[in-house]
Amino acid sequence: MTDSFHPPLRTLMGPGPSDVNPRILEALSRPTIGHLDPEFIKLMDEIKGLLQYVFQTKNELTLPVSAPGSAGMETVFVNLLEPGDKVVICQNGVFGGRMRENAIRCGAVPVMIEDDWGKTIDCNKVEETLKQNPDAKALAFVHAETSTGARSDVAQLCELAKKYGCLSIVDSVTGLAGIELYVDKWGIDAIYSGTQKCLSCVPGLSPVSFSEQAAEVIRQRKTQVQSWFLDLNLVMGYWGGDSKRAYHHTAPVNSLYALHESLVIVKEEGLENSWVRHARNHAAFAAGIEALGLGFVVDKEFRLPQLNTVSFPSTIDDAALRNALLSEYDLEIGSGLGSLAGKVWRIGLMGFASNQRNVLFCLSALANVLSSLGHPCDAGSAVAAANASYGKS
Ligand SMILES: *Cc1c(COP(=O)(O)O)cnc(C)c1O
Repeated sequence: MTDSFHPPLRTLMGPGPSDVNPRILEALSRPTIGHLDPEFIKLMDEIKGLLQYVFQTKNELTLPVSAPGSAGMETVFVNLLEPGDKVVICQNGVFGGRMRENAIRCGAVPVMIEDDWGKTIDCNKVEETLKQNPDAKALAFVHAETSTGARSDVAQLCELAKKYGCLSIVDSVTGLAGIELYVDKWGIDAIYSGTQKCLSCVPGLSPVSFSEQAAEVIRQRKTQVQSWFLDLNLVMGYWGGDSKRAYHHTAPVNSLYALHESLVIVKEEGLENSWVRHARNHAAFAAGIEALGLGFVVDKEFRLPQLNTVSFPSTIDDAALRNALLSEYDLEIGSGLGSLAGKVWRIGLMGFASNQRNVLFCLSALANVLSSLGHPCDAGSAVAAANASYGKS
């Protein structure tokens, strides 16, 4: 006999998944209905409307891809790019590199612009590169680089894309609902996100949205989209605006209940209020981190409130600390990636997990574990600094 699986109750403060709101878990467990049931079709329409709200767009082509954020990335690339197309890609962390992999697999030609990990994307370099590549079809970049904690200036990058006749492709897997994002106002042509970061939903879905211009590019392709599953010309037969929906694949029915609930929660709070909450909890957390004598990798202006990249001295045993947090406090934080491996922690304050209780809990747990590992620090002063920050805002 094999027993049922009962996961431990953790507090998820890593780079995702983030803590899932219990309301969403409850929604997930509601009875499964058919994916062509008229009641389900109504739900799909509501999800589309709610996604348009969180993306701040009127884009008709807005839907959740039935797979995680990486599939959203792939959806955007395989639908917009054809063999031989040139795409300018900004890389200042892990995910820009994945965009390059996707472009290559589409037979497209990536032109890379690199910035140091932890730095924001240098718009001057982007303009220079677009000038030198007048034949580029698209400019692709990450809004919120989860591997480094750096934010990009999406409005300015999209303006540059327009100026040089390119489509803009934006990865906002970690950005959506955590920081300002205006798809229409900023002129974003194609964007993808994820459910398990600031939407605090279960992993496994990827909301995407395409401007009318981008949708037209997809309709006018000369070659077939290389992926049958992700071909939006086919997917739209199921998710399309008109009432006749045709079977393409079986929608992940219960996951879509969960997504719907997560979007209702964002709408109840108000998108702007959600951004403000993330900023406020970040400010308090940062005050506590500084009181512990630790630092931040990213310059203040470009820090993501939902993903804090905290640097620590090389004398600290990274793995021992994270293991102790997990085993003694049921608290998960993330490790550094790439050039930041072993030098930073990535501490998420995403969605439902972005709250005062988690901020104070994480600061005191960190301080206690650091002290037990021989790096004496004062949990009380960190908590006091965070509380003082809350008092100010
Ligand atoms: C998490 C993440 C992804 C990938 O999403 P998955 O759901 O893990 O596939 C892509 N881009 C960024 C910036 C991310 O943070």
